Amino acid sequence: MNRPDLVRQTDRGLYCEAGDFYVDPWRPVDRAVITHAHADHARRGHVRYLANSASEQVLKRRLGDVSLQCAAYGEPVMINGVRVSLHPAGHVLGSAQVRIEHRGEVWALSGDYKVGPDPTCAPFEPVRAHVFVTESTFGLPVYRWQSHATLFAEIDAWWRGNAEAGRASVVYAYSFGKAQRILAGVDAGIGPIVCHGAVQTLNEAYRSSGVPLPATQLVSEIADKASLRRALVIAPPSAQGTSWLGRFGDAGDAFASGWMQLRGARRRRSVDRGFVLSDHADWPGLQQAIAATGANRVFVTHGYVPVMVRWLASQGYDAQAFDTEYGGEDDSDETPQGVVGSEPPGAP
Ligand SMILES: [Zn+2]
Ligand SMILES: [Zn+2]
Repeated sequence: MNRPDLVRQTDRGLYCEAGDFYVDPWRPVDRAVITHAHADHARRGHVRYLANSASEQVLKRRLGDVSLQCAAYGEPVMINGVRVSLHPAGHVLGSAQVRIEHRGEVWALSGDYKVGPDPTCAPFEPVRAHVFVTESTFGLPVYRWQSHATLFAEIDAWWRGNAEAGRASVVYAYSFGKAQRILAGVDAGIGPIVCHGAVQTLNEAYRSSGVPLPATQLVSEIADKASLRRALVIAPPSAQGTSWLGRFGDAGDAFASGWMQLRGARRRRSVDRGFVLSDHADWPGLQQAIAATGANRVFVTHGYVPVMVRWLASQGYDAQAFDTEYGGEDDSDETPQGVVGSEPPGAP
């Protein structure tokens, strides 16, 4: 007998009819299960939200006083007779895969994920499922991330070199997720760390959620201005070219993103250095994660969807695309709804 699919694509989002709820809907709905607090996944305007407890602080800063139910990782929540649970996705603080179980059938929806280490969030946990809905932001064979240790040795060496030459080091990184991962990974003994207001407000959400980060200051809080010449400065990409940067004088600058793996990406951003640092799984990571679910039916969302669907089909999977309205890496902070945690104009 043929049952309808437990989850299907609609013009509002991915919909579970049996439980009458949506996962990361892009139009207003009654009940939304949210995988993580990036703006393209956690949108305003829904009546009720369900998300992982670790994302509570960030979601409240983004969405204001909404009806938000929080669940611990692995804690089952029954929605209209459908068993829903959230499992670590390793993407950003509080990011979750959504496991949906109904009449013996299990679907897992990844949201955004990465499989590499990140001290600022719970590590990715494979969820066994009959059907897996995976993202594919970096679903091309060219994307292969270097190790955490190699990446941070590179960032530290660049910062140290600039500090010795008496120049600040400015890193453009998205304010929710990447900025905190850089903070947690660098050698904080090299010099002071200054964060843009948009980053600092998210740092506070991380700290109040129990994630340790090194001391960070707003530029207005630094009394010894000469020390800025040894500083690491973390700012969202939207700060590039603004007068805020003028306070640091002749500084080295860098952009941190998975896209920096591509030739020409650094030049297009007009920065001295590109650090390949992503919130998403690379090509081997996607394959590893998909295999670990044990699913033989896979739906692919945002990113290099046709490439991934073709590759999965060549490996014997029943693979299809879901057409969604999520952004890619680096789109997530800046949507028409505004920059996550943005500060008022003229703030320090
Ligand atoms: Zn995301
Ligand atoms: Zn996404």
